[in-house]
Amino acid sequence: MKKSLSIAIDGPAASGKSTLAEALAEKLGYLYFDTGAMYRAVTLAALRRGTSLSDHAALAKLAREAEIDLRPASRNDGRLSDVFLEGEDVTWDIRTKEVDVNVSDVSAVPEVRAALTEQQRRIGLRGGVVMAGRDIGTVVLPGADLKIYLDASPEERARRRHSELVAQGKNPEYEKVLAALVERDKIDSSRAVAPLKPADDAIILKTDGMEREEVLEHTLGLVAERGGPVAGSGYRVGLANWLFRYTFRPLFRLLFRLLCRIRIEGLENVPPKGPYIIAYNHVSNFEPPFVIAFWPYFPEAVAGADVFHRKAINLFVRGYGAIPVRRGEYDRKVIETMLEVLASGRALAIAPEGGRSHDPGLRQARAGVAWLMDRARVPVVPVGISGTSDEMLRQALRGKRPPLTLRIGPAFNLPPIEGRGEDRRAARQANADLVMRHIAGLVAPEHWGVYKPLGE
Ligand code: C5P
Repeated sequence: MKKSLSIAIDGPAASGKSTLAEALAEKLGYLYFDTGAMYRAVTLAALRRGTSLSDHAALAKLAREAEIDLRPASRNDGRLSDVFLEGEDVTWDIRTKEVDVNVSDVSAVPEVRAALTEQQRRIGLRGGVVMAGRDIGTVVLPGADLKIYLDASPEERARRRHSELVAQGKNPEYEKVLAALVERDKIDSSRAVAPLKPADDAIILKTDGMEREEVLEHTLGLVAERGGPVAGSGYRVGLANWLFRYTFRPLFRLLFRLLCRIRIEGLENVPPKGPYIIAYNHVSNFEPPFVIAFWPYFPEAVAGADVFHRKAINLFVRGYGAIPVRRGEYDRKVIETMLEVLASGRALAIAPEGGRSHDPGLRQARAGVAWLMDRARVPVVPVGISGTSDEMLRQALRGKRPPLTLRIGPAFNLPPIEGRGEDRRAARQANADLVMRHIAGLVAPEHWGVYKPLGE
């Protein structure tokens, strides 16, 4: 097993830190952590509450007490991660001009830095993380395994930021973008505590004229030199499984379409890439192949061990490379495998209810699934399937063409879980129930079973 490194990426505004850090984390199956987002979230909280930015004690209190959470991106709108403030998605609210012009003053307050640095360090020391910021290599993680300091001329950086803003449909003046950036760098580099500067042992990369891919390839080489994972390692799908998948999926699609009246809704909600969990309702043997046949790419899947003993199904389940679940529950080892799947950036399809119910009504989500979701902390894509049943195949073979609907809901992140022991267990189950309620919202009322959709 290759070791889990902690990687620090520092540099001035718009130097490409976030883009590099996120791409690197994805390649390595590491957590991407944008510390700038935390300073921005505190600034936003202060602006919203009308806290004076010269009231250092009030700002420090905000930094200590505001509930800030960073999660993998749940939407395909240009974001690199989801940022939450008090449970609200503020990913774009922290990128406004107002936050931009005030954040450096807030981040210069030593007590604010102390509060945020402590939280960042706790996460960074676990390893398996790419942390982007200004003082990661110097202050937050001075013992990081790899430190990169990205730099580029102010003009190049302003050009990049300007085109980003244009891509977002804004119409900024290049000169103003440049001036704001230079001003922010000046404050960040001259502050008394943790100023922006390369660590003595940082590798300085000047990226003027370099393509993103070049910077990424170069950095991946540095990771490998330090004994970190080689990109693309982690959970691997065998060649035989890939061959099986590409061969059988078109056939399955065709069979489903011939035998049933298929409706697929909400394909626009499928995230462009993993990691995320697909959570679907499970009535019969038909939901997993239905999801897999019509998902735009191949998700990994879980199958009950009993299925591995049934000849015909076994052939398909093994051929696809599904992860066997023993004991009818998700045990620790299976959860580790599932976490590895997610860490390697893949989508994982699971049925929170566990095995098939043989009944269209939803049943309570299993504790093991709640545990998985607590540990994985990735977005969940709810899927509601209507029309499947144990009799479906018989009806279909009699030429009845039963209707079969797959409805995909928008991806969402679960609320963070606090506490330990019994409290934590209850909070986990509440999250799993929340997933089921999202699924309930995608099926007809006669399928709700023990759950009601949100708002009902
Ligand atoms: O990286 P980003 O531009 O989003 O950071 C916003 C601001 O947060 C920076 O200009 C800087 O003032 C502050 N910051 C910091 N230390 C970090 C990360 C960000 O002071 N580690």
